[in-house]
Amino acid sequence: MSFIEAKNLVHEYIMRDDEGNVEGVQVALDDMDLNVEKGQFIAVLGHNGSGKSTFAKHLNALLVPSEGTLFVDGMDTRDESKTFDIRQKAGMVFQNPDNQIIASVVQEDVGFGPENIGVESDEIWTRVENSLKAVGMWKYREHSPNKLSGGQKQRVAIAGVMAMEPECIVLDEPTAMLDPDGRKEVLEAIHKLNKEKGVTIILITHYMEEVVDADYVYVMDQGKVVMEGTPTGVFSQVETLKEYRLDVPQITLLAYELKQQGVPLRDGILTREEFVQEMDRICR
Ligand code: ADP
Ligand code: MG
Repeated sequence: MSFIEAKNLVHEYIMRDDEGNVEGVQVALDDMDLNVEKGQFIAVLGHNGSGKSTFAKHLNALLVPSEGTLFVDGMDTRDESKTFDIRQKAGMVFQNPDNQIIASVVQEDVGFGPENIGVESDEIWTRVENSLKAVGMWKYREHSPNKLSGGQKQRVAIAGVMAMEPECIVLDEPTAMLDPDGRKEVLEAIHKLNKEKGVTIILITHYMEEVVDADYVYVMDQGKVVMEGTPTGVFSQVETLKEYRLDVPQITLLAYELKQQGVPLRDGILTREEFVQEMDRICR
C-alpha cells in the first residue's frame, strides 16, 4: 500500500438551513484516485474551486470521505481512533502565514507545537534549532514574527510544522500571498526538506511554475483528477491545460508556439535551460 492512498474518494458538502433541512449538496471531490509514496514530492494543481483544499483537509482527517476511502500510512481516515496518529503523520501549512504564527518570538513559535504535545524541553530546543536551520531562519530566532517578510513568516510556519517531525507536509497554496522573492524562498525551503530530510511533500498550488521540479503532478478540475504524470508529460499537453484554465509557464508556451510554427522542438519544455539546450540541438 502507498503512503497515501485515495480511492474513489468523494466529498459532499451538505448545506442546511436554520432548521437543519438539507438545502443543497456540493460535490467537492468526485471519485478521486491518488497515490503518494514516501519521500515523493507531489504537486496538486488546479484552478480555484477544483477541490484542492477539500482534499488537503482529508489528508489531515479534518474531513472524512462521503464515499470511497483515504488511507494515510495504512490508517483509514474514517477511523476516529486513528485521528491523532494521522495528524502526527501529515503536517499542514496554509496560505496565510499570519494565521499560523502565534508567539511573539520566532523560536517560541516553532517550539509551541512540540511543547503542546508534551515533548521534553531539551528535545524541543533541538527540534527548534534543526527546523529553523532547515528553512534558513535560524539567525532570525530571536526576532518578532511581525517584522518578517511574508516569505520569512511562511518559512517560520513551515519550521513550526517540521518541529512536530511529521513524515509528510501538506502545503495548501503556501505562496499565494507572497511576492516573487518570497515564493522562491519558500519553494527552495520545501525542496530542501524533501531532498535532505526525506520529508514527503504534497504541494497544492495554482502556479504551474511551482510544479516543474515535482516528481509527479495531479491536475484537478471540478473535484476530479483530470490529468496526471511527470511535469514534462503533463506540460506537453498545452491545449488541455488551457481548457482547465491553468497558466502554462511562459517558456513552455513559447516552445509550444514555435513548434506549431514548424520549429522541431520537443514537447514539455519546462525551464529556460531546457529551452536553450533544445535550441542548441536543432541549430547544430
Ligand atoms: P480549491 O481549494 O481548489 O479552491 P475547495 O476545496 O476550496 O477548492 O472547494 C471545492 C468546491 O467546494 C467549491 O465549489 C467550493 O465552493 C465548495 N466548498 C468548499 N468549502 C465548502 C463548504 N464549507 N461548504 C460548501 N461548499 C464548499
Ligand atoms: Mg483552496
